[in-house]
Amino acid sequence: MSSESKCSKPQCDKFTAINELAKRRGFFWSSFEIYGGSGGFVTYGPLGARLKQNVEAKLRDLFVKKIGIYEMESSVIAPGKVFQASGHVDHFKEPMVECQNCHTRFRADHLLEEKGITSAEAEKMALEEVAQEIERHGVVCSDCGGKFNEPQRYLTMFETTIGPYSGAVGYGRPEAAQNIFVEFNRLYTAARERLPFGVIQIGHALRNEISPRQGLIRLREFTIADLEFFFDPEEPCSYLLEEVEKEILPILLCETRLKECEDTTELTVREALDKKIILSEWQAFFMAMAKRLLVELGVPANKQRFIEKLTWEKAHYSSQSFDQEVLVDRWGWVEVSGHAYRTDYDLSCHMKASNVDMTVYKEYATPVEKEELVVKPIMAKLGPMYKGDAAKVAALLAEVPAKEMADAMQKHGSYMVGNYQVFPEQVDISKQKTIVRGTRFIPHVVEPSFGSDRLLYVALEYAYGIKDDRVILSFPRGIVPIQIGVYPLMNKDGLDIKAKEVQTLLTNEGFMTEYDETGSIGRRYARADEAGVQLGITIDYDTLNDSTVTIRDRDSWQQVRSPIKGLPEQLYKYFQEKLNFEQLGKKI
Ligand SMILES: [Zn+2]
Repeated sequence: MSSESKCSKPQCDKFTAINELAKRRGFFWSSFEIYGGSGGFVTYGPLGARLKQNVEAKLRDLFVKKIGIYEMESSVIAPGKVFQASGHVDHFKEPMVECQNCHTRFRADHLLEEKGITSAEAEKMALEEVAQEIERHGVVCSDCGGKFNEPQRYLTMFETTIGPYSGAVGYGRPEAAQNIFVEFNRLYTAARERLPFGVIQIGHALRNEISPRQGLIRLREFTIADLEFFFDPEEPCSYLLEEVEKEILPILLCETRLKECEDTTELTVREALDKKIILSEWQAFFMAMAKRLLVELGVPANKQRFIEKLTWEKAHYSSQSFDQEVLVDRWGWVEVSGHAYRTDYDLSCHMKASNVDMTVYKEYATPVEKEELVVKPIMAKLGPMYKGDAAKVAALLAEVPAKEMADAMQKHGSYMVGNYQVFPEQVDISKQKTIVRGTRFIPHVVEPSFGSDRLLYVALEYAYGIKDDRVILSFPRGIVPIQIGVYPLMNKDGLDIKAKEVQTLLTNEGFMTEYDETGSIGRRYARADEAGVQLGITIDYDTLNDSTVTIRDRDSWQQVRSPIKGLPEQLYKYFQEKLNFEQLGKKI
């Protein structure tokens, strides 16, 4: 099934069709419906929860299993200090306007985007400009037609108190990265104090969006997968680069965007690095991996692009950023992952705010000889002058940079340390050679960050197709929520018993199966196609005689006949994409 197929009803776009199907078949729906609902919260039902786990399993496959990224899990609530240090309390804000009449609040930049102002332009605007543009375009409340108040910046983190103390402010994490940074020292120890290494956290995050109206695309509570990869900026080379060097990245460059053009430039990873379009090899590596991830989720390469963020669009921590976008039916290009080169920003912030050393030690290949000025107090001269305080003065002198003291002595004839005046004859300043074996530094970080819910949505949209007026969800084999449906042709004559036997055989081998005996076999196939069930195994009267079954392919509706003996092994290879459907048995 191609993703191009249109919904049969002309007025119904894919977003509507998918949301309707999702609700009906139990993929997902808006939460708290019995109380009228609450925007921006979603509940995943049986099929959706399974699909989401499979999407996240792909992330783990690609990053945790294949390249050895560590995984961690920490809390959603964090003390205020964490997000003050990270800069979120100051920066995690969106421009908001309120209707003077009905008091509904809107994201001001989104209102302007509806008037044809690009998100790039809207994000750049100061609040006064936002107000002018709203005035100029005559934007009014979409609910009642009222005028808006002056725009203000609204903090989109959920604020709470920790325990019964109103002073103990806490925040729901708006991303999962800060947990990784604040636990850096322990994670580094767990990584046996070696760079480079990466840590991923997949978990819930909270953003108190002003007016979420885009289903799974914009939620107030969602699942994020943040991967922080720590490396030595003096050794920025990715040893994994070779594997992805030839991968083509379609990039919408800043210079193109500034010309208000949407043409992407197709570059191999190697070219993008050579031309310094991507600054970090590790960043380029993860962008290539992100492209492959989306292909594995069913989004073809030509429906993906990377967009280079303009200076004013970048998050406050980032030195270079790209968004990975996927083309969707209703909104055009939608971000599914972000790729930021965060340098040493986060660890530096937390080091400063917590006073905990987060540097790492690097031994030089060959030790370096250094000449240093060293200060030694002469107690025989300090003693008579400072009596009981002499030891304290000596201790203070030990903390003073020798160069600074030597310069001051030369210039002023004395040096003030604390409240004590020290004279040249009271100290011995001499040059000393030392061998330096290594240095301490703060690791740099590149971050790929994925939104699970968006990944799930685009997987659904690209799986969605129509064949003979019927919906088929053609998920890739690797993420299909239910792998195999098992159906007795008739619900009698022992066919049902045999079918349950086959199902047990398959579930014991680890397959995700469902058993369905209700309705005609045709209706059962249709139900299964709509849920994306990859294969249907039908038990008929021949099965009772020759122990063979019919296997039906969801997408082509072709059928093969195959012996039950050896079936699990064959199916295992099929789901590993090592066998085609035709290789599963004899064509019928
Ligand atoms: Zn209004």
